[in-house]
Amino acid sequence: MNDDFAPKLKELFDTETAAAIEAQKTGIYVAWRCPDFQHDCQRIFHTSRCFCDHSLSDHASYNAMSVKVPCRVPGCPCKAYQWIPNRPQDIGEFWLPKRPDFDAAAWRAKCKCKHTHNFHEANRPHRCTIKGCPCGHFMSDFLCAACDRHWEEHQTFFDSHKSRVEQGLPVGTDWLPFAEMPDLRNIALSGNEADDSHYLALKQFDTIPSQTATGNNEVVKFKGGKGGSSSRGSTSGPSGFKPTYD
Ligand SMILES: [Zn+2]
Ligand SMILES: [Zn+2]
Ligand SMILES: [Zn+2]
Ligand SMILES: [Zn+2]
Ligand SMILES: [Zn+2]
Repeated sequence: MNDDFAPKLKELFDTETAAAIEAQKTGIYVAWRCPDFQHDCQRIFHTSRCFCDHSLSDHASYNAMSVKVPCRVPGCPCKAYQWIPNRPQDIGEFWLPKRPDFDAAAWRAKCKCKHTHNFHEANRPHRCTIKGCPCGHFMSDFLCAACDRHWEEHQTFFDSHKSRVEQGLPVGTDWLPFAEMPDLRNIALSGNEADDSHYLALKQFDTIPSQTATGNNEVVKFKGGKGGSSSRGSTSGPSGFKPTYD
């Protein structure tokens, strides 16, 4: 294994690892996949960007019953959070960030019309807004790094521990990146393939059913309370949170 393999791998999966740890705590799993899949293509964290170009934490509070989570950024018409690849690495373009002129903050995923997602309407069918472009709906010019299908074949899901178990989807530490490959799993968690202390600490929570049983119907709030031990809130608060039910 070459020297920078572990730190690079850890960095690549940091957001997804954080998402898995958060989901285990709250019992709310936010994931991107094709509806017919029994695995997720992406674990979504509150910093993960939506098609509307705003992060999940800029959207309304949600719970495990949420179907459509609208954006709350003033002026943004987005009616439902939909994950979009945030980095070229998310679509397998590992060479791109190595270019000296690469600007990570400016990178956006592209449509077949050659315009990036942020120049398409936030809501379906995601018409292109560039003047003169005939594009009537966003069609990814990239394939998912996990399954090789187009972006538009995927959906963002807000699942509970229980609903995932019923669907045969992994939960708890089984949802960690590389859950089935201990060396890589340890690298993603700690940066060291031989260090399973993080994993064992998390594993303890897999057996605490009350966490997930009560967590499912509670509201996750990210605004305020930064640095608290829990991002789980029981408040429906002044935020105007209205869960959307199926
Ligand atoms: Zn938005
Ligand atoms: Zn959005
Ligand atoms: Zn387009
Ligand atoms: Zn266009
Ligand atoms: Zn996929």
